[in-house]
Amino acid sequence: MIRTFRYSRVDVDTSANIPSRINVETAAQRLGKAISYQTVSTQSSKDFNESEFLNMHQYLENAFPLIHASLKKEIINDYSLLYFWEGKDPELKPVMLTCHLDVVPIEPGTENEWKYPPFEGKVSEGYIWGRGAMDVQGGVLAIMEAVEYLLSKEFRPDRTIILGFGHDEEIDGERGAQAIGETLAQRGIELACLLDEGTPIVHDVLAELPNPVALVAVAEKGYLSLELSTSAEGGHSSVPQGLTAIARLSEAIQKLEKNPMNNKVDGLVKQTMTAIGPQMPFLYRIVMANLWLFGGLVKKELAAMPATRAALGTTIATTIFESGIKENVLPTQAKAIVNFRIHPNDTIESVIDHVRRTINDPEVRISELPGSINPSQISDVAASPYKTLKKTIREVFPDVIVAPTLMIGATDARHYAHLTDNIYRFLPLRADEGDLDRVHGTNERLSKENYREMIEFYIRLIEESAD
Ligand SMILES: [Zn+2]
Repeated sequence: MIRTFRYSRVDVDTSANIPSRINVETAAQRLGKAISYQTVSTQSSKDFNESEFLNMHQYLENAFPLIHASLKKEIINDYSLLYFWEGKDPELKPVMLTCHLDVVPIEPGTENEWKYPPFEGKVSEGYIWGRGAMDVQGGVLAIMEAVEYLLSKEFRPDRTIILGFGHDEEIDGERGAQAIGETLAQRGIELACLLDEGTPIVHDVLAELPNPVALVAVAEKGYLSLELSTSAEGGHSSVPQGLTAIARLSEAIQKLEKNPMNNKVDGLVKQTMTAIGPQMPFLYRIVMANLWLFGGLVKKELAAMPATRAALGTTIATTIFESGIKENVLPTQAKAIVNFRIHPNDTIESVIDHVRRTINDPEVRISELPGSINPSQISDVAASPYKTLKKTIREVFPDVIVAPTLMIGATDARHYAHLTDNIYRFLPLRADEGDLDRVHGTNERLSKENYREMIEFYIRLIEESAD
C-alpha cells in the first residue's frame, strides 16, 4: 500500500497548446511537395528510381536555402544525405538526428483506395496526405524545418549537430545508414546521443489509461533466421520406412513453437510499466507499484495480446517449409526456415542453444542464415540525453506521459550503435490504432496540427541539446 501511495501521478496538462513559432501552412505545402518524389525502396535493385532521389535532393536545396548555405553537406553512396552544423565548442560531442528518405511501395491493387493519389502530397481536410507522411518524410522535413527556423533566428549551437538521412532503411540500410555510420567512425567521431525515428505517441493504448503515451524505444530486438533440415531414405510411397522427412521436421518445429524462450516481466517491460502505472486507476496502481508481487499476473495479461507478447521475449515463427516433389515419392529432404526476433535478454548464441536443446534430434540439422544481428544494448534512461528528450516531449506535448520501451521491429539506429551508448528511437507522431494501419498501408496522412508539434519538438530539442 505504501508503495502504491508513493507511486503518485505525474502532472499532465490536457490543454496541450504551446505558442506556435512557425507557419504550418507553408511547412505543410513543403512536406506535400517532398512526398511527391517517389523515393521508393524496392526489394529488387533494378526497380530503383535514381532520378526521384536526385530530384528530391535538389528540392531540399531549394526549399531550405539557409541550411544549404550554413551547414556542410555530404552525399553518401550517391543518395544518402549527411549534414554537419558546426558547433561553437569542438570539445563537446555532437548530437545526431536521423530519419530516412525512402518509402515503401504502394501495394498493387490498392491505388484506388487512396483518398488522394499517394504521391500527390495533397494538403486537405487538415492533413498532409501521401506515402511517407508518417514514415518518414514527415520526420525528415520536420527536422529540416526546425534547423531552417533556428538558422533564421541566428541560433548557433555550442555542440555540433549532425543530420543523417539514409536512402534504403526500408530494405536494410546497408548503403545508407550503415555507410553514414562507417564514415563518421572513420573520422573518429563519437556522439553524445542519437535520435532516430521509432515508436510514436500512442493514443488509446489501454482502456484504463486516460493519457497518450510517448513511447521512446531505448532498445531494439535482434534478428535471426535458422534453416532446419533433415534427410530420409527416398523411394516409393507404397513402402514407407520409419518417419518421413516431413514428419521428422514437423515434429521438431512443433516442439520449438510450443516451447518459446523464457518471457519475463523484468528490465524494459518493468520500466515501461513503472512509467505509465501512476496514471492508471487505483487498482491498477496497486498492481503496477508491486510488480514484485503481481509480476505473474501482469505477464499473463501482456502475453494475451500478440503485440505486447512480442515485447516480453524472443519470438519464434516458422515462415518457410519445403519438401516433396510428387504424391507417390518419399521425400529425401525437408527444409524449413524459422525466424526469431531476439529479446535483449537473449543472444544469437543462446537462441541457437535453446533450439538445439528443444529439438533434441541429431537428425535435424540447424544452420544460421546470413543477416542475423544481436539485440541492441539498452540505452540508460538515467542518462542526461534521455532526460533532455523526456523534458522536451513534456514541454511540447503536455498531455502525454513518457515511457521507455522496446522496439520490436528494426530501424536504421542499429547502424550507429558503435558511435554512442545513448540511442533513442522516437518519432513525435500522434497515432491511434487506426493511424498505425496507415503506416506502410493505405491513406497515410499526418495532421497539420501534429506536424506543427513535430517541428516545434525538433526546434526545442536542438535548443536544449545544443549546450
Ligand atoms: Zn521508417
